[in-house]
Amino acid sequence: MSTQAAGEDAPDTVMPASGAPSGAAEPLHGVGVSPGLAAGPVAQVRPPAGEPPAGPAVAEEQAEAEAARIAAAAEAVRSALEQAATTVEGERRELLETTAQMAADPTLVKGASALVREAHLPAPRAVWQAAGKVAEQLAALGGYMAERAKDVADVRNRIIAELTGQPMPGVPQRSEPFVLVATDLAPADTALLDPALVRAIVTAEGGPTSHTAILARALGIPAVVGLAGAPAALPEGEVVLVDGGAGTVELSPDPERVRLAEERRTVVRTFDGHGRTADGHEVALLANVGDPDGARAAAEAGAQGVGLFRTEFCFLDRTEEPGVDEQAEQYRRVLEQFPGKKVVVRTLDAGADKPLPFVTDAEEANPALGVRGLRTARKAPEVLENQLAAIARAAGQTSADVWVMAPMIATVAETEDFVAACERHGLGTAGVMVEVPSAALLAGPILARASFASIGTNDLTQYAMAADRLLGSLAELSDPWQPAVLRLVESTCLGGAQQSRPVGVCGEAAADPALAVVLVGLGISSLSMTPRALADVAAVLAATDLATCRRLARAAVDAESAADARARVREGLPVLADLGL
Ligand code: PEP
Ligand code: MG
Repeated sequence: MSTQAAGEDAPDTVMPASGAPSGAAEPLHGVGVSPGLAAGPVAQVRPPAGEPPAGPAVAEEQAEAEAARIAAAAEAVRSALEQAATTVEGERRELLETTAQMAADPTLVKGASALVREAHLPAPRAVWQAAGKVAEQLAALGGYMAERAKDVADVRNRIIAELTGQPMPGVPQRSEPFVLVATDLAPADTALLDPALVRAIVTAEGGPTSHTAILARALGIPAVVGLAGAPAALPEGEVVLVDGGAGTVELSPDPERVRLAEERRTVVRTFDGHGRTADGHEVALLANVGDPDGARAAAEAGAQGVGLFRTEFCFLDRTEEPGVDEQAEQYRRVLEQFPGKKVVVRTLDAGADKPLPFVTDAEEANPALGVRGLRTARKAPEVLENQLAAIARAAGQTSADVWVMAPMIATVAETEDFVAACERHGLGTAGVMVEVPSAALLAGPILARASFASIGTNDLTQYAMAADRLLGSLAELSDPWQPAVLRLVESTCLGGAQQSRPVGVCGEAAADPALAVVLVGLGISSLSMTPRALADVAAVLAATDLATCRRLARAAVDAESAADARARVREGLPVLADLGL
């Protein structure tokens, strides 16, 4: 079956995802990071009001009343947050309750009231200054407490909004579905999103590997980031059509297209547990997991195994190395979800965006280029040895087919050392992550030593493009569709083919159904992703034969820009429009 055949049943009204029907306004372009079509009225995340003025000074006789306004405003914020907390569950409830408790904390109110009485500052300014002091104290404590400084700023902004009669900053509370539009989303904002109400997300900042993109994919919410001009270009209340695959947003969309988007949104696709192209070429579709709960969800979603178990996620809050017994137990609980199936366990990838105090150095000037990933074993070899012992023990307790890989491999010598360390623990399938361009270029000799490679496109993109993966303002560079990144993938696949070693992808690129086609065409044999993406990726592969994958891979690698690569491939995959991806 060809991709053309899959498109034959498409109704006439369905346009290629990259274009609007003639006569409609030209769509706005950003970077599509979570596929899917969705429409709804715009609800903008309200930015905080900013620093309030220090005057006019409050008269002595009004100081008491002005100070009392602060306590009342803090109480109103606390009670609104408590109320909001009762409407949600789990992590979202905990987050709201924590912020409510912070609003009830007397330190901020006392400090601000004293500034009104003694320095005669207006209440909003007093809250601003007092919160600054609390945040400074927390920041000085470092670690977890320093993180709380951001929550203080959130509470401060809410109390000031209450005092000045302005709308509350942050994600608006709505009872009807909407398209969320923001400059950028804070991690707490994203964690609080209700997927039943948020039809799509559009941000001006944020790249494909930003937390907004990762969370949107995990929740199955279509998202476009890096859309210049948002939020100003997307007025509050206006209905827009978001295409999270093409990276476009249409204002005043054709009502028929809106109806179709809604129809497709409600179609629930499932994965039958067997990834393959239309002509039967096998592509294992695996899951990325971070803990035993994630592994259970992945197994339920039909994942054919685990392509990336991020072991550091089990221990992110630790200041001390977890013992071998505890590690082995955590790993066993992940492995037991996949009896007889492949589970790729990655050794601790500490450093940069994932510091682990027991192995990383907080003082490094350039943590992304520092002692991170496997490099931490130079300083603390016993941590790697202990972890391999724990993995080996867990592997012996289950029937999972355990593969082990090291993050951030850059040289042949590192590969040799890692494979030897795994052998010492009886772990015979030892591989490398290809995340550093040097490893992609040296894939041949590296794979002469290692049993397999798994490409981490998030870091590979970051290092190939010299663009911080978390920096929204560089979204167009932090894009795995960049032809330079695709050429590094191609180089890795060539090395794999030379040595007859399998090469998979476990970065976010694997979850993009159009890019998945390119990766398969380049020779990738397994794709590992958030479980939510499995069904969409499987559906697109099942409608595309291997020759088409190869042809589109060539077109993407030969493109001169990420936008060109994406456009060429989307044009060659009408199935994307059929499936609303
Ligand atoms: C990657 O870099 O693509 C990857 C899968 O690893 P992580 O996102 O955990 O750094
Ligand atoms: Mg990585």
